[in-house]
Amino acid sequence: MANGGEEAKEQGLNSLPEVEFSALNQQDRNPLGAKALAIRPQDWRHGETDHFIYHFIHSYVATPISVEAEFNFRVIAKELGRDEMPAALQKSHIYIFEKPEDWKIFQVNALLEPWTGGIHSRGSLFIVRDPANKFADHSLGHEIAHLMLFRLYRRELPRWLDEGFAEYVSKISQASYQRARNYIARAHSHSIPPDQFIPVSHLISMDYPAAAQVSVFYDESERLVRYLMTADQAGFLGLLDAIGNGEQFDTALSRNYGSQFFDVAALEKEFATYASKDAPSISAP
Ligand SMILES: [Zn+2]
Repeated sequence: MANGGEEAKEQGLNSLPEVEFSALNQQDRNPLGAKALAIRPQDWRHGETDHFIYHFIHSYVATPISVEAEFNFRVIAKELGRDEMPAALQKSHIYIFEKPEDWKIFQVNALLEPWTGGIHSRGSLFIVRDPANKFADHSLGHEIAHLMLFRLYRRELPRWLDEGFAEYVSKISQASYQRARNYIARAHSHSIPPDQFIPVSHLISMDYPAAAQVSVFYDESERLVRYLMTADQAGFLGLLDAIGNGEQFDTALSRNYGSQFFDVAALEKEFATYASKDAPSISAP
């Protein structure tokens, strides 16, 4: 329930409806969820949309996030070549912190994504949001992409694929979101200086990179996904499915791209040139 006239005024007709905790479509089985709700336990409220369950303090903070989350979901599902996701009845939980001090208490428990400042953990998402700011960048879309990949495959993907796809698709989604609001927007991809290029055979086996390599790791992973998507979208989705089901990169590559790249070395030869090209923009669908 709104706790005062002020807030009621800020909630438009379309604000996210509040749902009692016990009446939510499903509870979060991720133990980090309970840890989040244990901080400031009296203040959390709850709501849900078609694909997500939200835990929040103020509905005027949660409402625009819910709109953006569903928008991202649609764009990403389309990029994944799916009209609907499997296990459609399963929703992903999103926890929206507002106070930096609460977030500090919470984040001790989990690994923060250096790129977005959020935490994706096994299908649940934890973010901190200052009510005065909106997400100006593609970080929410990036995290939604992780949620969706986890929902599809129920396992952690190789880091380059998880981060590369999240970067690639969230940039497309953000450009599309802005165009829907009459901004002129295209998705930008960053080129990799040749002297910083990480060999593909190394990139595909990397876990979290050292701080100095974080930005080139994300950029190159995004470029590799974009390169594979551009070369053959069906091939990429086949490769993603294969790796999502536990196949190794080299066999998944030769099964899905065999006619274009004989092996990882052949892919690397072509990709190295593409990776260092000046940042062209992507035409979003
Ligand atoms: Zn990420």
